[in-house]
Amino acid sequence: MQKRINELKRLLQNQKDIVITIHRGPDADALGSALALSSVLKQLNHNVTVISPNDYASFLYWMKGNEDVVVFTEQTDKAIEITNNADLIFLLDFNDLSRIGEYTETVRNSTATKIMIDHHQEPNLNDADIIISDVTSCSTAQLLFEVLEGLSLKNLINKDVAECVYAGIMTDTGSFKYSSTTSKTHRVIAELIDFGANNSNVHDLVYDNYSEDRTKLLGYCLNDKLQIFPELNSAIISLNEEELDRFNFKKGDTEGVVNYALAIKGIKFAVFIAEKEGKVKLSLRSKGDFKVNEIAKKYFNGGGHMNASGGISDRSVEGTIKKVIEVFEEYKNELLTN
Ligand code: 5GP
Ligand code: MN
Repeated sequence: MQKRINELKRLLQNQKDIVITIHRGPDADALGSALALSSVLKQLNHNVTVISPNDYASFLYWMKGNEDVVVFTEQTDKAIEITNNADLIFLLDFNDLSRIGEYTETVRNSTATKIMIDHHQEPNLNDADIIISDVTSCSTAQLLFEVLEGLSLKNLINKDVAECVYAGIMTDTGSFKYSSTTSKTHRVIAELIDFGANNSNVHDLVYDNYSEDRTKLLGYCLNDKLQIFPELNSAIISLNEEELDRFNFKKGDTEGVVNYALAIKGIKFAVFIAEKEGKVKLSLRSKGDFKVNEIAKKYFNGGGHMNASGGISDRSVEGTIKKVIEVFEEYKNELLTN
């Protein structure tokens, strides 16, 4: 990894026009990593723009630098112009250019040097010139911290940068509880607190900031929409567009809902299905060594991590539920072994 970091160091030796982009529907890991890297590079006098393929949940708006993010779907011409002028493009928290949606072709056609920093499996080797990938890392934010360490730039991590990195690690580890959380993670977190991150406040900003609608939607999901298949150790929660409208759905409102299904005793595989902007999206979560990324790839044109993946369905919500139940049946033996 240090070899690639050294290549990056050389690229950053003189002033550059830099774009940092992240996956569609960015989460705290993607946005936090992008804003942290942006702040560090700006301190080195580079000209930096963070471009998000689309808008994201408002509970991320507190992150320092959020107001300067260019959203491709809202400021398309500006985003294209900035991208066409870029010398370097960082690709953070995704492994394949298809994950930036409508922005894909603009980035693909750019002649800029592309640097991928990511923790997803199977990075597409054709999509970047320098690939810094660690699939064992709990988060891109932690990997970014190690990259900054390798670049000897840790001295530029101030309170704001530290809080963005903290939020990325916190959310991608489920608040430090997933098996991807290591002693290294805790050491990085300790350093971030030393750099000024107000850890308790970051938790409040991300987790204790729900709207009334979001809380009621969660209640509806759990009380009315949770289907448990005890003989298959599996569960489904699904929502159609009308139901989301009823609760004035805003981006991010359904984040984490699937984890409530997975938290039920005995449940090994939980699926959340939601119809958004005319598309049926799935979130797949599992416990132990049950590999949901294989299922996401095989049946739902998606992918992700072993225990947390996503994808899309070309069926209706009802049709998708049927398909998911077929998948439960297909994997019955694996689901029933411990
Ligand atoms: P979520 O369920 O939170 O939307 O996504 C969980 C994880 O699944 C993400 O961190 C990402 O790794 C992966 N993922 C989600 N949607 C997609 C998708 O459409 N394609 C691929 N390849 N991975 C996805
Ligand atoms: Mn991530």
